[in-house]
Amino acid sequence: MLFNMKKSISRRSFFDQTIGISAGALILPSLKGMTFNGSGLKPMIISSHTNDTGKNAMETGWEILSKGGSAVDAVEKAANVIEADPEDTSVGLGGLPNEDGVVQLDSSFMDGKTYSAGAVACLENIMHPSSVARLVMQHTDHVLLVGAGALSFAKAWGFKEENLLTEKARKIWLRWKEDLSPDDDWGVPEHLQNLKSGTSYWKDFPDIEHHYGTTNVIAIDINGDIAGCTTTSGLSFKLNGRVGDSPIIGAGLYVDNEVGAAGATGRGEDVIKSCASYYIVFRMKEGRTPQQACEDAMLMIADRYRKVNPDYLPSEKFVAISKSGETGCAMMKGTNKPAMSVRTEKGYLKQEGNIVFPDK
Ligand code: ASP
Repeated sequence: MLFNMKKSISRRSFFDQTIGISAGALILPSLKGMTFNGSGLKPMIISSHTNDTGKNAMETGWEILSKGGSAVDAVEKAANVIEADPEDTSVGLGGLPNEDGVVQLDSSFMDGKTYSAGAVACLENIMHPSSVARLVMQHTDHVLLVGAGALSFAKAWGFKEENLLTEKARKIWLRWKEDLSPDDDWGVPEHLQNLKSGTSYWKDFPDIEHHYGTTNVIAIDINGDIAGCTTTSGLSFKLNGRVGDSPIIGAGLYVDNEVGAAGATGRGEDVIKSCASYYIVFRMKEGRTPQQACEDAMLMIADRYRKVNPDYLPSEKFVAISKSGETGCAMMKGTNKPAMSVRTEKGYLKQEGNIVFPDK
């Protein structure tokens, strides 16, 4: 009986039905048996975030995938975990603000199964821009909403406005503002300036730099469908209204259900100009592994800059996954190897990639 039923309905609807039946009357497919339509491939989820929150996010996503849930759901819920971490100064709540002290978030979502995409940019006061991007993708015929329009759309869907500027982020911003120029009037009076490091928040945040930070989350579900999301507060202290690569489909994120997916973090301006995520997926389509494709994109960007400034190397990190579950991760420069989170049925793995220009 059961066998006949499986044959006559889709794998997903079979799954929904089996989950709905109580007390083991039917046997759920064991994790070992979870393959994409018999191909032997398995669900998985990856992220560019490798801290504890990144790991928790992977477990949240995996929980969904391992029960036969969709890549879209897994990616959204995993991204939400990272967005809700107030200690993370690069994404969602607690993200560093723009130069005016306002947190403006960017996010994109792409569903390979339906070739749909949605994104929001310069979204204020909403903790989960990834969820709003998903709604743009699924409930509008547009791809990108910005600023006040993105906020009205979020509110129409019932999202509550809240202050995303944590005390920590506000103090980092103030510290940056006071240190910005000797020629403005921010900071302690001139006659006390050599004592400024005595104030508590100067001691708390001794080295303030512009910093990048974003997360990419990509998943493959039991049906072999791929979805991805990129979410960020963007470049810290950016100009008001600046949009980075994260909400630009093809730049901060790209998904091709037949090939794989890629996401970017780092200097968004480079990623936009190079259409880096699209390029990585395109290279995979040409037969390159995800690792090779991430490195190809780095080399392509460096090559462009070499023509105008041989010494300039920007700071990007790319992650990629192929349809068959291979992963790749590369960074332009740095001292520590770049890493990514990978969660499969075998458990959690922090996987290292390559630095393309290790001596820079
Ligand atoms: N790519 C993001 C942006 O430029 C920032 C980052 O990834 O660090 O907005």
